[in-house]
Amino acid sequence: QSEARATIGLTGLATMGRNLARNIARHGHTIAVHNRTTQKTTDLVEQFGDEGDFVATESMEEFVGAIAQPRTIVIMVKAGDPTDAVIDELVPLLDEGDIVVDGGNAHFTDTIRREKALSEKGLHFVGMGVSGGEEGALNGPSIMVGGSDHAYEHLGPIMESIAAQVDGTPCCTHVGPDGAGHFVKMVHNGIEYADMQLIAESYDLLRSTLGLSPKEIGEVFEEWNGGDLESFLIEMTADVLAHDDASGEPFVDVVRDAAEQKGTGRWTVQSALDLGVPVTGIAEATFARSLSGHTSQREAARKVFSTSPEGEREQPDRDTFVDQVRAALYASKVVAYAQGFDQIAAGAEEHDWDVDLGMMATIWRGGCIIRAQFLDRIREAYAEEPDLTTLLTTRYFAEAVKDGVDAWREVVATSARTGVPTPAFSSSLAYFDGLRRERLPAALIQALRDNFGAHTYERVDREGTFHTLWAGDR
Ligand code: NAP
Repeated sequence: QSEARATIGLTGLATMGRNLARNIARHGHTIAVHNRTTQKTTDLVEQFGDEGDFVATESMEEFVGAIAQPRTIVIMVKAGDPTDAVIDELVPLLDEGDIVVDGGNAHFTDTIRREKALSEKGLHFVGMGVSGGEEGALNGPSIMVGGSDHAYEHLGPIMESIAAQVDGTPCCTHVGPDGAGHFVKMVHNGIEYADMQLIAESYDLLRSTLGLSPKEIGEVFEEWNGGDLESFLIEMTADVLAHDDASGEPFVDVVRDAAEQKGTGRWTVQSALDLGVPVTGIAEATFARSLSGHTSQREAARKVFSTSPEGEREQPDRDTFVDQVRAALYASKVVAYAQGFDQIAAGAEEHDWDVDLGMMATIWRGGCIIRAQFLDRIREAYAEEPDLTTLLTTRYFAEAVKDGVDAWREVVATSARTGVPTPAFSSSLAYFDGLRRERLPAALIQALRDNFGAHTYERVDREGTFHTLWAGDR
């Protein structure tokens, strides 16, 4: 074996790491591969060794020794403590200037911590968000790279070569320093939660209000996919709803209705609360998953409140209602994305990252789960106005929302009357109304705060901060 001939190394060869390693090898890069359990390394090279130039290694020492300096090493292990364990094992074996890349789903604050610790040792640490699941990892993911410019000079060309390509542009970019890549990947996942919840609510409305079958709803989604809602998730929804289980039942009917989560939605909401950004769409989507899993509370409530207005099903005109739901879905989606982009802007400001928001829309157009025609519109909006205040008011989206707002209200009203829950549709509409309102009842909240806690208030007619001596001051 020739020494140090690999241009990159990857440790952690489970589903994601293995596919990413194959993708890298297929693009002509010599890659050293390693896994804690050697069997996975052996299996990879046995099954796919002819796809490219792999250097299989058994020990961490052998792995590090196989990579040309300055080394670029990608870690694709379980997020959390395992990532720290691998970093601790690697670091003593590395030389100044080497680049350590965490491609797992790390929390961005862990990435900030790790970057600081490694930079003190003269090493570069990169938090790299990889989106697109196992299929994306193999055939072209969307890649959000953090870390230093120097690290990107080495890592960027390799990652750009393996990323999804849309119109000749790689779905990979240097987002910003330290935790920026993982932060953006987190919000991306949050947006994915909102997108899926909106789709699920649309399905529920069409099924419960119009009484359409899953197959019929699948056809509606297929039709929607031909218009401005065109996206991977809408297309996938059409496929899933058309699918029958082996038992003959519609597949969606045999799946238990308790949605799980791995945590990135929750992290997005936690971060949004810290930043003070109202990401109501993502939050409602995350809470809706939690609610679905509260089976004992659901059962208790079902027993007590079994008579629901659903019994008196409204029968709106089918075509009209389908179109109203489509419009409500589009408008709510605009809100969810506007909120997500607001959060990225706020995070960038808080952490002093110079994030190009239009570029985020550009690199999400391929490889990832939320890839959609819609993202081109977002990219165009930022190209027209890089410092825009909110996506909601940009020309294209404002027109779409104005055109759809009556339908949106009708759908939310129907859901309230029929008892079909639409937390994401409803909260998005409330967010929209909150933003466009001349005056908000926040004035009353400020008055109450001043009354009970002398928290002071500002006035509409004079500059300054005021406190009123309320009668019978407590
Ligand atoms: P995973 O199930 O999250 O992790 C398994 C890998 O971690 C195995 O290679 C395992 O080695 C290694 N590992 C666990 N503990 C370790 C330790 N203490 N020391 C050394 N190695 C350890 O794998 P995955 O699903 O492929 O995901 C990899 C990363 O990508 C994760 O951070 C995940 O969140 C992220 N990600 C996943 C997806 C997805 O769709 N699955 C998408 C994007 C990002 P052994 O074989 O020796 O057990």
